[in-house]
Amino acid sequence: MRHRSPTITVTRGRFAATAGQVLEHVRAAGCAAREEIASGTGLSVATIGRSVGPLVEARLLRERPDLARTGAVGRPSTPVQIDTDHFAVLGVHIGRRIATVALGDVAGRVITHRTIRRSAGAAPDLPALARAASDLLADEPGRAPLALGVVAPWRDLGLDEAAIESELAELTGLDVRSGDHIAAVAAAEYFHRRQGTTGVTLYVYARDTIGFAAAVDKGTGVEVSRVSSLSHFPTGSDVQCSCGRTGCLEVTAGNEAVMARARAAGIVDGDDPAALYAAGAAIRPLLAERAAVLGRVTATVRDMIAPDRVVLVGQGFTGEPAVLADVLAECDRGALHDVPVSFTRFGAGIQAVSSCTVALRPIYDDPFALVARPQRPAAPTSPAIA
Ligand SMILES: [Zn+2]
Repeated sequence: MRHRSPTITVTRGRFAATAGQVLEHVRAAGCAAREEIASGTGLSVATIGRSVGPLVEARLLRERPDLARTGAVGRPSTPVQIDTDHFAVLGVHIGRRIATVALGDVAGRVITHRTIRRSAGAAPDLPALARAASDLLADEPGRAPLALGVVAPWRDLGLDEAAIESELAELTGLDVRSGDHIAAVAAAEYFHRRQGTTGVTLYVYARDTIGFAAAVDKGTGVEVSRVSSLSHFPTGSDVQCSCGRTGCLEVTAGNEAVMARARAAGIVDGDDPAALYAAGAAIRPLLAERAAVLGRVTATVRDMIAPDRVVLVGQGFTGEPAVLADVLAECDRGALHDVPVSFTRFGAGIQAVSSCTVALRPIYDDPFALVARPQRPAAPTSPAIA
């Protein structure tokens, strides 16, 4: 089984193709004139102009003369923004019990998504996932798909990342990028909050699986690296783990562990994790107990990595707002309690956002490598699925 490097390059900064740098600057700014893009990227206005024209023609950017600033010195150029109407990316997230398919626009917004239950341990039904993605696209006629991102905790699920990536490429005819799911979650968080992220941002993720990733802003580009699983992190609990030891984090505080405890206590039936957060006050003590465990582990990892900030991601953290204070109380006990800790704003949509973010990478690296392909139809209603 081949495993790829878990590193995801969020932005290549000055090492990206010029058109990619323009696209990235405009996306982060929301709307920008050529002069603003030039000062933001360090490239000349003439160079920016040579990229903006073709990007507008390719319908990746659109001009917004209505947003031109009046009163500026000289004659400012027409501002541009990302054209979110003509292209789409597809995202596939494979979790332990849930798969998510999503359709996103070129600015990184999720247009629509769908979750599909799957049996834990079974191989993912890729033709069915490709069909579900194609159905989402069919509901948005006029959008041409540019790329597909597939994200999973590959190692934890024992899946062959490279094989799944190439099978999805074959099924959909699209450029497919894969990513480790915690790195992708961190990349998505990072991508959507570009401002105030210098230095090292530590992302701790908890849902079915638990792990962390660090995004490092090097000034010339940003990488999400140092991705680690916390599945077997020792917590001191007496829960037996499949690895032969007791007290590992995932069997203590993962979704399945909490579900099993809630079932044994007669609080929920079945195995739908959504039931955990719908069970009201009865489940609160179990969720608070998990929150305390996750908070202690977060504090330990933070004190090890010494990041500039910590962002908590995944429904293990965000599923029950009432216990967030329990997580923060444990974080306050660690050595580096001055490092700010915040929660993702994506909540339950993070799997859709993260897979669509991974799909955006080839577009932001080199947009003309994708849109200029002569064989790509202008506006197919669905990807070619065998
Ligand atoms: Zn273990």
